[in-house]
Formats: sequence, C-alpha cells, structure tokens
Amino acid sequence: MQIPFLSFTPQHQPIREEVLAALTRVYDAQWYILGQEVANFEAAYAAFNQTAYCVGVANGLDALHLALKALGVGPGDEVIVPSNTYIATWLAVTQVGATPVPVEPNAATFNLDPARVEAAITPRTRAIMPVHLYGQACEMTALMALAQRHNLLVVEDNAQAQGATADGQLTGSFGHANGTSFYPGKNLGALGDAGAITTNDDALNQKLRSLRNYGSQKKYYNEIVGYNSRLDEMQAAVLSLKLQHLAEWTRQRQAVAALYNQHLAGVGDLILPTVATGSTHVYHLYVVRTAHRQELQQHLTSQGIGTLVHYPVPPHRQEAYAGLTMAEGRFPIAEALAATCLSLPMWPGMTEEHVAAVASAMRHFF
Ligand SMILES: *Cc1c(COP(=O)(O)O)cnc(C)c1O
Repeated sequence: MQIPFLSFTPQHQPIREEVLAALTRVYDAQWYILGQEVANFEAAYAAFNQTAYCVGVANGLDALHLALKALGVGPGDEVIVPSNTYIATWLAVTQVGATPVPVEPNAATFNLDPARVEAAITPRTRAIMPVHLYGQACEMTALMALAQRHNLLVVEDNAQAQGATADGQLTGSFGHANGTSFYPGKNLGALGDAGAITTNDDALNQKLRSLRNYGSQKKYYNEIVGYNSRLDEMQAAVLSLKLQHLAEWTRQRQAVAALYNQHLAGVGDLILPTVATGSTHVYHLYVVRTAHRQELQQHLTSQGIGTLVHYPVPPHRQEAYAGLTMAEGRFPIAEALAATCLSLPMWPGMTEEHVAAVASAMRHFF
C-alpha cells in the first residue's frame, strides 16, 4: 500500500465545490487585497483563537517578524528561542536585528524547558519565543509566570499548533503578540502562503495593521517605515471555509496519533511522542525517535511509505548562522533529536488500515 507523508484529498475533496465557489466570488468581486474576505477571516480566527484581534499577513515568518517589530524588539536585545525549532523562529529574531539565544528543550516533549529558560535570562533578554513544536502546547503557565517575574515579552510561534491548549487555554492567546502560519501543509492551510498575528492589545493590533501595509493606515499617508506583508482575499476566503472544519480535522489527527501509539508500542527502540501534563497535542506531526533513523526511513521508502525529518540540522549548525559561532556539541539535546527523529505519515482522513500498514512495515524492519 502506498501511503504518502501527506495527502490533502480527504480534506479538500468534500469541500471542493464550496472552495471553488469562494474563489469565484472573489474573482467576480474584483477586490483582491485587504477587503471584506480578510476582515471576515480575521474576525473568525480571532474568535477561534479566543483573542481580541487577528491581523492577517503574507506568511508565518512575517507574522513572527512583525510581532517582534511591533513590540519594539531590536538591536542589542536577546530573544530566547528553542535550540530545536524550525529556522523561521530564529530568522524572525535576526530580521529585527536582535540576537537569538538558544535554549535546550525537554527531550521527551521536544518543547522549551522553563527551568533552562530561566537559567538563560541575562540583563539583555527582552523576549521569549515558545514554539509549540509538532503541535504540542508548551508549558505556558510556567513560561508566562517567569516572563512576568523578569518583565519579558512573549511571542508564541503557533505555526504548528492551531487549536492546542495549555492548562485549558489556547496556544496563540498567551503571548503579547503571537505568530501563526497557514502554509498549505499546516493544520489550517491556505492554497498558498498566508499567516497571522493574534493579540489582545489594541495598540499592537493597530501598529501591526500599519506595519503589514507600508506603515500606512490611511492610503498614501505613511506614519512608520512598514512592509508589504498582506494576506490576500483569495487565501482569506479559503481559510474562512477551512477554519470551519479545523476542529474535526484536529480530532482526526488525534485519533490517528492514538492508533499509532497502540500499534507502535514496544516496537524496536522507538520512542513515541509524550504529551506533558496540562498540554494538548494537535499532531501537526507525529514524530518518533530511533537510533536507526536512516535505515528505517530507507526501508519505509522502499515500502511506499512517505516520511520526513523535522529537522535534520538544528539552527545553530546551519551555515546561515555560522556567524554566531555555536560549535557542534554546544546544544546536545537539539543535535540528538535532529539525529534520531522521524515524522510518520499524518493527515486528517488517514485510516486504521493506513496506520496498521505503517506499523507493520516498521515491525518488519526491526
Ligand atoms: C511553518 C513554520 C513557520 C513559518 O511559516 P511560513 O508560513 O512558512 O513562513 C514558523 N515556525 C514554525 C515552527 C513553522 O513550522
């Protein structure tokens, strides 16, 4: 059985006519940038995320960059980031001229460890960027408490965890301004690039609306030096439709994860995902660990099963950050996770037959 790493078919086929009708509506309206579709989606996503405001932008990296910019983070500031995140978290910090300060994760949850975060705080620390990696909420209660104690800003990277909760509260609603991504493969995906910032602060909301649109709120009057990072009407119309299905798709991802947990328990040297007390996991990715990653991945490929590695090289070992001179071995947990993690097929609509076939191929390998 061929099992792709990701298939959109079960998500997109049932809503095909609705999506095409929405695209036709925008096409015929002849208004393509910052109109009613974007306003409607922003209202719907703010309601979904239980924040006062949502500002649509061009992609997830811009969402994080503009969030830091709006908060006034810049040169001379240190921003605490996970050592094992996707590169975009670090790039946002670099783009505002601040310095990323990596902190090692809890190896069991892949997420920032609050005790290590506290140990990394210096007089220059301005902000913490918790990343809800693979879809699991970070320990936000502890992180918010220590941010408050040290007077630090918090910008959540919620690109992978739309709908996850920490102690009952939604990710993307804790920090001062939080970024998310609607890249097609994310849990809520557009048909192209898209992203958003969520916040409860109206001054930030206004500033972000200006920053994303040339630093202008009134056409041709520019109050600040801004950017062009707008969500477009086509993507907003599609996102509004898909948002109505997100809760159901999340339930399906969680059901697939539960099946993997059953089928893979005790297989080989696999370490299965662990969910922290108080956190929920929306399984953007289902990531296992094994000392035999490369051979296992090759075996699964030969059986027609798609897998990926998120991520093979941690940011501090990327050529782009060679200038930060963080030697190999400096962040051993991030390096160990990068060397052993493997993401299995995960998409809403995967069946128990699919999961059983993946598990059977893995048992065969071991
Ligand atoms: C996808 C992703 C981003 C960036 O989103 P884009 O829309 O691709 O720019 C940032 N952080 C994390 C953790 C991501 O997974």
